[in-house]
Amino acid sequence: MSIQIKQCKDCNRLFHSLGSNICPDCSEKVDNYFRLVRDYLYANPEADVLEVSKNTGVQESYIFEFLREERLSLNKDSEYIKCEQCGSAINSGKLCKSCKERLSKILETAAAPAAASKEKAQQQQEIFGRGLGKVHLKYGSD
Ligand SMILES: [Zn+2]
Ligand SMILES: [Zn+2]
Repeated sequence: MSIQIKQCKDCNRLFHSLGSNICPDCSEKVDNYFRLVRDYLYANPEADVLEVSKNTGVQESYIFEFLREERLSLNKDSEYIKCEQCGSAINSGKLCKSCKERLSKILETAAAPAAASKEKAQQQQEIFGRGLGKVHLKYGSD
């Protein structure tokens, strides 16, 4: 694992990162926000983003981030979060259910031939590799 110096996305301070975009302090802060929001939504499942923000004191932008990351989802579709493909209201993530299904089908069909030929190539390599090994052994024993 490599340690990088990064600038915290949240407080702009430089910190040693193991891959995170925010510093340990902010990450703790955001975790606390997350717990607040999660607990609030647990007690108030019908709440929307504005209501959650107002009652927990957590800025809307953090709540949107949680929803986008699918760490949280709203019970009802939110007009604040829209599918990146078709613009319909969704409750978490980046895509609505039908766009997700459509895209995963496209990806499956696109990935299928590539995966098949990769498997073939690997098989060929295995056979080829064994063959070479034999040849080598023969040479060695001669
Ligand atoms: Zn920070
Ligand atoms: Zn969509």
